Amino acid sequence: MYPRQAPETSEPATSSSILAHPGPYRAACPEPIPAPDRRPGLPPATLISAMALPHPSPPTTPPSSPRRAVFLDRDDTLIHCRSVTPDGDLGDPELVRLTDGAAEACAALTKAGYALIVVSNQGGVARGRYTEREVGAVNARVNELLGGVIERFYYCPFHPRGIVPAYTREHPWRKPAPGMPLAAAQAMDLDLARSWMIGDAERDIEAGHGAGCRAVRIGGAGVESSAECVAPDLAHAARIILREPDRS
Ligand SMILES: [Mg+2]
Repeated sequence: MYPRQAPETSEPATSSSILAHPGPYRAACPEPIPAPDRRPGLPPATLISAMALPHPSPPTTPPSSPRRAVFLDRDDTLIHCRSVTPDGDLGDPELVRLTDGAAEACAALTKAGYALIVVSNQGGVARGRYTEREVGAVNARVNELLGGVIERFYYCPFHPRGIVPAYTREHPWRKPAPGMPLAAAQAMDLDLARSWMIGDAERDIEAGHGAGCRAVRIGGAGVESSAECVAPDLAHAARIILREPDRS
């Protein structure tokens, strides 16, 4: 267990919305758009009419089980943010730098069967610091550096104190609300009780707990947190998750 300390309170507030983006990217906008099931290996849907079945038949294949996921905060969890942009608003993919051990941690969690999903407040959109297109470009660069292991990026561009009218409001996807993990679970058939949240801020932990997940708070020594575990960085957080017994 890593020593705990007082929670950070200086991070910028941010928000969530679901705007459809190409590929795995999902933003948080007015209302969530149901996303297709991307689980690999699923056979194409076959239509079977009950009229064609003379007797009820037992299923020939067992129903699929919901998967476990690790929800990852992005800024100062997966990538450096405040050390790159003092205001915490990172909208330039050229500035993306992974945190130490992030690639190895994500690879290990993926190998263990966890779906990796980024859930990120991006209130910089509401503050007029960058656009949703730039959020998508940064996310694409993050996944490029991680070898493409992130299945989806959810983000929330809303903030109640923004300056861009279209994004200036509260939203159920904005952490600490649990809207993003809940939307991902519905879209991707995830078992939230067997899933985890990792983040560097207490709002990340609250969002994870609100969705029914366990959580690891990362940060400096002495972090005070309601998370089940506290770790110095993402690499240690991944090791904790991999050694913890699964919930039944
Ligand atoms: Mg963060």
